[in-house]
Formats: sequence, C-alpha cells, structure tokens
Amino acid sequence: VLCVGQDFDFFYFVQQWPGSYCDTKQSCCYPSTGKPAADFGIHGLWPNNRDGSYPSNCNPNTPFDPSKISDLKRTMQSVWPTLACPSGDGTTFWSHEWEKHGTCSESTLPRQHDYFSAALNLKKKVDLLNVLQNAGIEPNGNSYSFNSIKGAISEASGFTPWIECNVDESGNGQLYQVYMCVDTSGSNFIDCPVFPKGRRCPSDIEFPSF
Ligand code: 5GP
Ligand code: 5GP
Ligand code: 5GP
Repeated sequence: VLCVGQDFDFFYFVQQWPGSYCDTKQSCCYPSTGKPAADFGIHGLWPNNRDGSYPSNCNPNTPFDPSKISDLKRTMQSVWPTLACPSGDGTTFWSHEWEKHGTCSESTLPRQHDYFSAALNLKKKVDLLNVLQNAGIEPNGNSYSFNSIKGAISEASGFTPWIECNVDESGNGQLYQVYMCVDTSGSNFIDCPVFPKGRRCPSDIEFPSF
C-alpha cells in the first residue's frame, strides 16, 4: 500500500510582515540574495484539522528536492524570502516548510512543485499590502486599530483572517502574521473552520516600516 500522507481539513496560508519579524529582540538576517521588498512574504501553507490539531512531518521518504522547483526559485526568492539568521538563499526555510507541512498535504498536492505553486498562486490572489494601504494603513511605524486592520482584510478578501501580533524591542504590539484559510485543493480561500490559538493583540498595533 502506497502511503500518501495524512488527512487534513483545510490549510492556513500564513504571510509575515518582514518589518515585524526583524523589529524584535531576536532581529533578523536578510537573505544572501539581498533585502526583500517591503511587502508581506509567505511563511507557509499549513495543513490543519477542524478540531485545531494539525499533522506535521508526515513523510520522511520525500525530502525537499530543490531541483523539483528550480523554475520557481526566482519567484520564491522574491515572495517567500527567509529572514532567519544566518543569511541563506531560502532553501533551508523552504525545505523546513515542505518537510514539516508540505509532506502532510501529499493527498491533495502530491508533488513538491504543486505545493509551492499553490502557495505562490494564493499570494497573488490577495495583495495584503495593497488592501491595507487602500484603507490608509501604511507600514510607516504608526499605530492603527486592530479592528481596522482586520476589517480591511475581511472586506477586501471576503474572508475573516486571523492576525498574529508580536512585540518590538520596546514591547509594543505590532502586526506580524496574517492567516487565511484555504480549501484542501490549495486554491480557494474559505471561511476558517477554526482560528489558531494564540495571544490576543492589543487594541492598537504598530505597522513598522521595513
Ligand atoms: P509558534 O509556536 O511560533 O506559533 O509556531 C511554531 C510553528 O508551529 C509554526 O511555524 C508552524 O509550523 C506551527 N504551527 C503553529 N501553530 C499552528 C497551527 O495552528 N496550525 C499549523 N498547521 N501549524 C502551526
Ligand atoms: P514553522 O515551523 O513555524 O513553520 O517555521 C519556522 C522555522 O522556519 C523556524 O525554524 C525558523 O528559523 C525558520 N525560518 C527561516 N526563515 C524564516 C522566516 O523568514 N520567517 C519565519 N517565521 N521563520 C523562518
Ligand atoms: P471575538 O471572537 O470576540 O472577536 O474574539 C475573541 C478573542 O479573540 C478576543 O480576546 C479577541 O481579542 C481575540 N481575537 C479576535 N480576533 C483575533 C485575531 O485575529 N487575532 C488575535 N490574536 N486575537 C483575536
């Protein structure tokens, strides 16, 4: 019997604001390919269950193979950049995401190329930075109401996102990650069956520059 990975109910498509990844006590390192654009970047596409649990590291037999996605590499360097230290070209980040999460959606996206393409296509569907800027919410270090940020994304996309905050070096809450839910095909946004568990955000949050 060929084992094609565990079942799951939907995906979280998670994007990160680079300014908020970097603007912390931990700091960050720009990729070896240069400073990324001042835009949301992909963090990952994570299979999840309706009960809030999630599978991980499902198939050690399909390790990340960069040669299978060589045609996507340039695009991934621009929209899925790594900010972790030490600097790298992204391969370590993508490999981690494939092995931890991608191997758990092999029932619907069997090939690494399908998995990464799905994430790249989702990124194109909702331009988060544009949506926020159209609502007057700019990455300039100002604070905005949490509700206005969540509301702008909800209205523009038609779906309620989950917002994750982190704290800058001075301890101010800021916009860090945006979670959107996606059907098991990896191509359509859906209403979230369950929201991630996590700390509340303050009622006003910073949107740092990058
Ligand atoms: P953290 O503890 O920083 O929130 O998350 C660490 C890692 O656990 C994430 O990068 C992700 O790989 C995984 N993770 C955290 N929360 C969730 C979740 O709700 N669903 C899934 N699928 N993965 C999660
Ligand atoms: P997760 O397990 O939460 O899906 O992914 C987090 C892992 O990816 C951590 O080991 C982290 O060091 C690594 N990583 C590499 N680049 C990045 C990045 O730009 N953002 C985040 N959040 N994690 C990164
Ligand atoms: P409610 O369902 O009443 O909107 O929110 C329930 C709790 O979850 C409240 O503590 C609220 O602050 C928190 N919450 C609601 N939406 C989000 C979100 O997108 N991100 C985070 N971090 N907390 C949220």
